[in-house]
Amino acid sequence: MKNKIGLFWLKDDFRIKKNFGLSNATKKHDQVVVFYLYKKKLFEKQEAQKWWVGKSLQIFRKSLNRYNISLEIVEVDSYKDFFKSLFDKKNFSIYWNKTYEPDFIEFDKYLTTNFKKKNIQFNVFKGNILNEFNEVSKGDGTPFKVFTPFWRNAEKFFMDKIPQKQSIISKCNKKVSFFNNTINEDKVLPKKDWFKKFEKLWVPSEEKAINELKNFINNRVEEYSESRNFPNVIGTSKLSPYIKHGQIHVETIWEECIKIKKKGVDKFLAEIGWREFNHSLINHFPHMINGNYSRKFDKFPWNKNIKFLNAWKKGLTGYPIVDAGMRELYLTGWMHNRVRMIVGSFLVKHLLINWIEGEKHFKNCLLDYNKANNISGWQWVAGCGADAAPYFRIFNPILQGEKFDREGLYVKKWVPELKNVPKKFIHKPWELKNDKILNIGREYPFPIVVHEQARLKALEAFKKI
Ligand SMILES: Cc1cc2nc3c(=O)[nH]c(=O)nc-3n(C[C@H](O)[C@H](O)[C@H](O)COP(=O)(O)OP(=O)(O)OC[C@H]3O[C@@H](n4cnc5c(N)ncnc54)[C@H](O)[C@@H]3O)c2cc1C
Repeated sequence: MKNKIGLFWLKDDFRIKKNFGLSNATKKHDQVVVFYLYKKKLFEKQEAQKWWVGKSLQIFRKSLNRYNISLEIVEVDSYKDFFKSLFDKKNFSIYWNKTYEPDFIEFDKYLTTNFKKKNIQFNVFKGNILNEFNEVSKGDGTPFKVFTPFWRNAEKFFMDKIPQKQSIISKCNKKVSFFNNTINEDKVLPKKDWFKKFEKLWVPSEEKAINELKNFINNRVEEYSESRNFPNVIGTSKLSPYIKHGQIHVETIWEECIKIKKKGVDKFLAEIGWREFNHSLINHFPHMINGNYSRKFDKFPWNKNIKFLNAWKKGLTGYPIVDAGMRELYLTGWMHNRVRMIVGSFLVKHLLINWIEGEKHFKNCLLDYNKANNISGWQWVAGCGADAAPYFRIFNPILQGEKFDREGLYVKKWVPELKNVPKKFIHKPWELKNDKILNIGREYPFPIVVHEQARLKALEAFKKI
């Protein structure tokens, strides 16, 4: 083994700590090459993530240098074509961590079958998850469809099997190269102006992820159960893009959390639990990736209104809390969870637009986009998912704003045209009727639908199914 090269296929694993595949490769080989397969087409509909991935490659290359490991980026049209040519190469063993999406799980089967046939040594490891999705099931062996019992079992299962073995990366004896036609991360990084803003807000490094976690645990977790609902305060961890791209492993989060006995920790870990639940759902019920989990929604008469859809995407619906959320998303690549629920409910229930449109837009703009959370999050909001919000829960955007952004500070931050509007009207500026403060209809739109009418229309439509 020692004289062969160890190849590690890097996907969402931009970390040194708890990178099980990479650490095993360095234990078994003196020379290791990490390779990333850049599929340009993939990022055409995930534009924000192109920036995160490009930056992550830049930063991770430096981390790997310290271990004498080289990082090679190969541009590919299809993973299959790339691996077909790899099957004919010799003198390497290959390692990778699992990605918990049905397509990847299926592809792992293809790879392992072919590596076996070609007599090439391969090793597949646990990815960024606490439990493998098929490890947690009901007594009768079927998957959970409701979160609370799922998490009760999942948590217990995980606790019973820790402590996990530490995975340490060993230093290789020298840097080597393996692939021809490699590209530089500059080719991955996007050129658009939109992304310049991200540079000031995010540092996609493992070190930053660990610091953010520690900062959250030391200063914010005790208040988490309450403050997580208020979008104007930084009450949550903001770790989601780091978790998605693997700058931090959820086991590390778990371990750091259980070391302390603070209020708020259980609630925070339960949110990590929702992520586990969502991964379990899309793998057990893969039909929900391209459609409704609940089939009775297949007949729902969605409204195909491009004008409304664009107003929603641009943050010009006339409902300040909705518009603030949509603009926060566009400008920062992230949106507060409470506001994700409000804007989602508005799209699906007030505008009666198919949740799939919202899911697509989030996919393009979110730095933390992942299939499991985004698809399940949208279906939860629409009411067609497993353990979803009931159809009659229609968030009132005015009351939600008044409850969770009392002073209107979140709205004023993202919708500056409302900065002089008094608190009393900040969530219903059309009632202000004072052109000197706000010329409604010119400086900021009138609501595109009237809340009460839209609510009744939605109830009527949803009741039918
Ligand atoms: C319509 C909709 C779409 C969403 N799309 C995504 C998505 O693409 N990617 C994504 O990571 N999350 C998504 N979420 C879930 C949630 O909004 C984000 O995970 C959260 O806002 C991230 O911020 P944070 O890291 O500060 O969260 P924290 O509150 O600090 O939570 C810690 C971690 O737990 C997980 N988590 C938190 N809330 C949820 C949740 N409701 N469901 C599943 N996991 C959760 C995330 O990994 C998060 O980073 C979506 C929610 C909705 C309603």
